[in-house]
Amino acid sequence: MPVPPGLLRKATRVLATMALGAAAVPAAAGTVALTFDDLPVFGKMTSAADGAVVTAALLAGLKRQHYIATGFVNEVQLAGPDRAARIRLLLCWLDAGMDLGNHSYSHLSLNSVPVDAYIADVAHGAQETAALLAARGRRERWYRYPYLETGLTLATRQRFEGWLATHGYRVAPVTMENSDWRFAAPYDDAIARGDQAEARRIQQAYLAFTARIVPWYRKAGKDLLGREPAFVFLLHASRLNAASIDQLAGILRAQHLRVVPLDTAMRDPAYAIPDSYVGPNGTGWLDRWALTLHKALPYASVPTVPHAILTYDSRLEGATDPRAKATS
Ligand SMILES: [Zn+2]
Repeated sequence: MPVPPGLLRKATRVLATMALGAAAVPAAAGTVALTFDDLPVFGKMTSAADGAVVTAALLAGLKRQHYIATGFVNEVQLAGPDRAARIRLLLCWLDAGMDLGNHSYSHLSLNSVPVDAYIADVAHGAQETAALLAARGRRERWYRYPYLETGLTLATRQRFEGWLATHGYRVAPVTMENSDWRFAAPYDDAIARGDQAEARRIQQAYLAFTARIVPWYRKAGKDLLGREPAFVFLLHASRLNAASIDQLAGILRAQHLRVVPLDTAMRDPAYAIPDSYVGPNGTGWLDRWALTLHKALPYASVPTVPHAILTYDSRLEGATDPRAKATS
């Protein structure tokens, strides 16, 4: 798909601005914003009490590390006889100093539903969260696309993002991810079966993979833009992450990555680079910028999720081909 010359000129201007900024930042240091999708809980949440255990552990870990993160809510998870208690899980995030955003009511893909139905689902998905924020004089400002799927046509995408803009939302992009959702379901399964040893093995594999993929994104970002952007890390509100916050923080510290709020990361001029990608792939924003800039990411060197984890995850999903599922 040819990139309109205006777009390329704008992108080149953004890069020039960034190059000016590059001089001021010490070589190894970087910044990253942490975002957690599928709130209150990624995977099965059998009850509010079950969700409260995960939420308490995840938030305690974030507070221990003095991190301010943003959680993206699927309000379909609030349905149930214990609705009030489920809504209180979101309150815990705000009480802990975190921010909340919209991840659509029922985790739909814009690639597979008509845009008006999608807009209705996103609007429906704001009700409780926006009310909790409004009670604190705040409003819901961020939207995270489920599956990172942004529509199959430019018209669809522009129609939806037009709606977002008129309702005060910005899209929360993703420029770093560690396929945590691939490890999360096997971890939950091992825990549910009482197999602590297996759960520990999965956690170790997850942390080892994270320690390899984070530097890959840093190098890919730097190669693409001439300097590292402030990253936006896609994670999920899973039991695995609730049990791994301190180790994840250790990996980020070892990488000299300082955690900043989403607002701060999004002030990086890199996020002004035009992204006009439309198509089937739920893909991250480094890929999208690479398209705009006529460049490629170093995929030959990208670390891959261990095959045993892919097979385990797909078995739980009932899928035969481990590579079947894209992003979550
Ligand atoms: Zn999601």
